[in-house]
Amino acid sequence: MKKTSHFRYKDQSKLNQLTNIVVENIEDLYEYFEAEYHKGQKVYFSNCFIHGGDNKSALNLYYDADYRVHFKCRTHGCEKHFGTSLLSMIRGALSNVKYGWKNPGDKTVSFNETIDFLLNKYKIDFGQIKGESLNVGNHEFCKVVNALSKNKLSGTIDKEFYRKRVEIPSKYFLNRGYTIEVLDDYDVGNCKTYGKEFFNRAVVPIYDDDGDMIVGFTARSIFNQCKECKSYHDPNKQCYHFPKWRHSKGFQKEKSLYNFWKAKDHILESGVIVLVESPGNVWRLEEAGIHNSVALFGTVLNAPQKQLIDESGALSVIIIMDNDENEAGQKAAKKIKEQCEKSYRVYTLDINKQDVGEMNTNEITEDIRPWINKAKEIYK
Ligand SMILES: [Zn+2]
Ligand SMILES: [Zn+2]
Repeated sequence: MKKTSHFRYKDQSKLNQLTNIVVENIEDLYEYFEAEYHKGQKVYFSNCFIHGGDNKSALNLYYDADYRVHFKCRTHGCEKHFGTSLLSMIRGALSNVKYGWKNPGDKTVSFNETIDFLLNKYKIDFGQIKGESLNVGNHEFCKVVNALSKNKLSGTIDKEFYRKRVEIPSKYFLNRGYTIEVLDDYDVGNCKTYGKEFFNRAVVPIYDDDGDMIVGFTARSIFNQCKECKSYHDPNKQCYHFPKWRHSKGFQKEKSLYNFWKAKDHILESGVIVLVESPGNVWRLEEAGIHNSVALFGTVLNAPQKQLIDESGALSVIIIMDNDENEAGQKAAKKIKEQCEKSYRVYTLDINKQDVGEMNTNEITEDIRPWINKAKEIYK
C-alpha cells in the first residue's frame, strides 16, 4: 500500500471544518441512511444504522457537546470499533451500506473513502476547506429536492412542506427590487444550506395547472455574472461553473409555462397571453397588475408549450424577450412570431431596459400596458 493514501486527509483543522459541515447537514445524512431520528436539546436520537438495529434511541449523537461532537451506540457499542467522532459514525454507516457491516471483524470502508463520500456529497474540495469561512450558519434544511425524488410516484410536493425549508422572501430578489408580496405570493426563497443542490440560489417553485402541487423548481444564482468566465459563481472564489439558472432533476421545462396556473383564468378572460423569458419578468408584470403573462424558461417556444397556449383560449400573443447585447432576444422573438402568426395576432414588443425585470411599474404601465389593452380591444 502506498504511504500517501494513508495520509491523504491528515489535516485535522480541515477535518474539524468538514465535521462542522456534516453537523449542519446531519438530518440530510439521517435521511440518506434511512434512519428514524429525532432531535433533542443536545442529542440526536436514532436507530443505529451502523450495526443495523431498530431501537429508535440506540444511537445518540451529541451534536452540541462541550468539547467535540461525538456519538454512542447504546445497544452494541459500535463506537468502540470505529471511534467516537462524527466522521467515524459516517464511516460505520457507510460500512453497513456497502458491506453489510454488523459485527466487529466484518469488512469496513476506509477512512479515506468516508471523506471522499462526504466531499463528493457536499461538492467540496478538501484543499478548498481551509481558511474558507463556509456559509453554513443557519439550520435551515432545504430537503425539498430529496423529498421530490423520494416522492417519485406522484412527482409532486406540498407547498407548506417546501416553504418551511427555504427563506421566503428571497433576499436576492428583494435586493433586485421585487416586492415582499410578489415573492411571498410566488414562494420564492433562498436556499442557504451548504452542499444542497440549490445552495446559493434563489429557489422558484413551479406549480401544476391548479396551483396546488409543486412539480419542479428552477433556481437562480444569487451572484452576478463573472466578467472573466461568464458564469454566475461566488465572486470571492476562483472561477467555477455555476450557471445562472438550474432546474430540479426530472423537471421538463419544455413542457411547462411558468405562471400558467395563475395566468390561465386571466388569459381566457382577456384573450391575450404575454410571453416572457423568465419568472422575474412575470413578477414585474404582476406587480404592475398584469396577470396574463407566462415565462418560457428561456427563449425557445417548444411544441408542448405551444400546445398549452393553443388550449388556453388566447387569441393574441404578446412577445417580450430580453433586450440582450447580441440580439438573441430579438432573434428568439422573431422565431416565436413565426410559430404563432398562423393562429394568433402577434405583437412583438421591444423594450428599452435589458429585460422586463429591470422595468418599474410606471414604465410597464406606459410601455407595455397599452399594447395589452390594444390586443384585448380588437376582439371586443
Ligand atoms: Zn450500533
Ligand atoms: Zn469566473
